[in-house]
Amino acid sequence: MNMAESTRLVAKLRGWGFEEAAIPEEADVVVVNACVVRQRAEERAVSRIKTLESLKASHPGLTLAVTGCLVPLHDGQLQERFPQVDMFMPAGDLSGLDSWAVEHGLEGDCAPSVLNGPSVFLPVIQGCTNGCTYCIVPSRRGKERSRPPGEVVFEARELARSGVKEVVLLGQNVNAYGRDLPGAGCDLAGLLRELQNVEGLLRIRFLTSYPTDVTDSFLEEISTMDRVCPAFSLPAQAGDDAVLSGMGRRYTVAQYRMLVSRIREALPGAGISTDVIVGFPGENEVQFEGTVSLVTGEGFDTVHIAPYSPRPGTVAARTLKDDVPAGEKKRRQRRLEAVQRGVATESGARLVGRDVEVLVEDVSGGGQGRGRTRSGRLVFFPAAEDRVGLEVMVSVKQASPWWLQGILKEGRTTDD
Ligand code: SF4
Repeated sequence: MNMAESTRLVAKLRGWGFEEAAIPEEADVVVVNACVVRQRAEERAVSRIKTLESLKASHPGLTLAVTGCLVPLHDGQLQERFPQVDMFMPAGDLSGLDSWAVEHGLEGDCAPSVLNGPSVFLPVIQGCTNGCTYCIVPSRRGKERSRPPGEVVFEARELARSGVKEVVLLGQNVNAYGRDLPGAGCDLAGLLRELQNVEGLLRIRFLTSYPTDVTDSFLEEISTMDRVCPAFSLPAQAGDDAVLSGMGRRYTVAQYRMLVSRIREALPGAGISTDVIVGFPGENEVQFEGTVSLVTGEGFDTVHIAPYSPRPGTVAARTLKDDVPAGEKKRRQRRLEAVQRGVATESGARLVGRDVEVLVEDVSGGGQGRGRTRSGRLVFFPAAEDRVGLEVMVSVKQASPWWLQGILKEGRTTDD
């Protein structure tokens, strides 16, 4: 989400005629886009802003803005804390920058030239109304707020017109899209259906999905949409019911597993990645083994594993003792990583010798092509630069837990 918002920022600034400065000392405008999901990240962002405030003392013409989760929706205290900052913009809301541009007589449309590839993130819903006890996002980004479908479709059309082939719809809880738009009659499936008609778009992805919001009717609907990629980011977080309950997650392990099998039934070959926290307060060895068994049994494409760290301002940090020692958290993380490596190696090996359809996202100077399958697997292959933005067939020759390596099968591309 932060990357998507930074891209939009750069597009706006380029559209108004700005160019990237090599160092802050050469800049007229500096915007800090701060992710504060972890305390350490917040501390780094604060220290960066303080340094820039000192720079502003010697460069009074510098405009200094701060955005991202550091800026809560309602808080007048930031200005007192950072008196040299000219503008605070809540995450995803760049209207302050628009007003500043008007005041300074700057005109121009967002410059699509910042898009560095055929695949682009497109935020469609901000905030989260779930109450995971360890997470700071709801208090920083606020409740779920969907962008109107017309606005999203318009932006997707503009992106497609400028050469984009794939949009990745983003939301902390993307399946909640539309719930807060009374009368709009549009949910995520409806939005995807409309985006299917955008000329030039080859692929549409979406992430992240809160497990209980992925319904059977949603799966049934998207199974008929040929441009919607069967790839899910479906955070499980733990493989034990008591730990899930402590985390404030609203499902059991059995319900999560049932959902994974419903996805695989409705969309054979779907890619599923997940997120897991190890060492949550009170998590014992048996409970951790529950997570190991979930990862072993469900055959995820990717598992993002994070050791628990208390985030000040959250319910968990306030009420639960961080009682799993740091060394033990590390051990659990390493063990789970090893388990997932084995699972991913096996599933990758099953693709060796097969052909996969890949959207070419990039070709390096050395002729190394990079892209993803529809299910989200990363693929490398030798290719010429003019293949970027095309869907091609790649014959898989080798697999690792993280990527596939293959060769292009000439003669079948989206140009044909
Ligand atoms: Fe945070 Fe995700 Fe839970 Fe929302 S669903 S509270 S963003 S962890």
